Amino acid sequence: MTIDQFNFAGKKAFVRVDFNVPLDENFNITDDTRIRAALPTLKKILGDGGSVIIGSHLGRPKGVTEKYSLKHILKHVSELLGVDVQFANDCMGEEAAVKAAALQPGEALLLENLRFYAEEEGKPRGLADDATDEEKAAAKKAVKESQKEFSKKLASYADCYVNDAFGTAHRAHASTALMAKYFDKDHKMFGYLMEKEVKAVDKVLNDIHRPFTAIMGGSKVSSKIEIIENLLNKVDNLIIAGGMTYTFTKAMGGKIGLSICEEDKLDLALDIMKQAKEKGVNLVLAVDAKVADSFSNDANTQFCEVNAIPDGWEGLDIGPKTEEIFANVIKSSKTILWNGPTGVFEFENFTHGSRAVAEAIVEATKNGAFSLVGGGDSVACINKFGLASSVSYVSTGGGALLEAIEGKVLPGIAAVNE
Ligand code: AMP
Repeated sequence: MTIDQFNFAGKKAFVRVDFNVPLDENFNITDDTRIRAALPTLKKILGDGGSVIIGSHLGRPKGVTEKYSLKHILKHVSELLGVDVQFANDCMGEEAAVKAAALQPGEALLLENLRFYAEEEGKPRGLADDATDEEKAAAKKAVKESQKEFSKKLASYADCYVNDAFGTAHRAHASTALMAKYFDKDHKMFGYLMEKEVKAVDKVLNDIHRPFTAIMGGSKVSSKIEIIENLLNKVDNLIIAGGMTYTFTKAMGGKIGLSICEEDKLDLALDIMKQAKEKGVNLVLAVDAKVADSFSNDANTQFCEVNAIPDGWEGLDIGPKTEEIFANVIKSSKTILWNGPTGVFEFENFTHGSRAVAEAIVEATKNGAFSLVGGGDSVACINKFGLASSVSYVSTGGGALLEAIEGKVLPGIAAVNE
């Protein structure tokens, strides 16, 4: 079932959203992007004459915690939605059930933070530090048991289930996956945001227009290895950028000075190069670097060959020759995936390479390429450069997007498709 096919008139929908927004010390929302991202779904349901029961988590509470109460965002959600949203102080219990049952068409109810209950994540809480393995196993079994009741109870509030929380789609939590099984396939669906995310991932993994180029940046090879290995089976060009460059350079016998390097991943870097060759993937590595004499924005800088970095200096961004090589590969691509900056983009003096990559992606997109930017810091980059609206899609999911690109089945997606 899709959200556009379903007529919500007279129906109650449980909508799992990701309202995990940052709050300042006075509980003001400092970035409401995630709330805005769920509005089309909520408005569609209310517009059809349905009512919504909104479920979300906020932060990582270990129990009921005032700081993580969703009541702090209630007013803002009401304003954005244009509806006086009701609130249930507890996502379980009488109040939630009664308020959900009384909802009229066009009305909305926000449930208190689902993670106030250990059952949401299905992980035991309050175990003593010296708990034995048996005690841990028993606690895990107990929470898994009560998780079923918890999921069933959430499901009992509504006639249909809508998952619009891509950010938590990689978690098999009660509200993101388990409760979906209490609805048949005609009564569960993705929200608009989730639909867009799923389509974007599908375009880079399954509906590939070639050449396909992935730009993998960031700090460490170790955190990107599964993605790189999956992408080696898909891409034509794999650009390696960012801090992981130097692990490759060192593995090939280059001098990297004080640049970041995972000494225990040198063999892995060589293996990735070998795999790329075997699979006919064009592995594109940096040839020059912008190096600094300290890890700071105000450091002295110079450009040098990536494999001849002077002692005491470290590579904090790619150099101009590399920018040109990367840009040419990107501009001739028809499918592009960008994850991770080419340098320490948090320092203004080391953003140039990431900006060059972003601009090349924008140009390729103008020429008809599909471009997906996502998974953490490249999103911050593209926003910083004001280019988010000039690429095909910027993902809202960090870990979820990365796991999807690793080729994993996300529980939140599988539960709706089942
Ligand atoms: P990740 O979370 O793995 O995508 O890594 C992003 C982080 O990598 C950012 O905070 C960057 O500052 C960092 N990074 C990128 N290039 C370098 C580099 N050459 N040296 C150190 N850190 C880097």
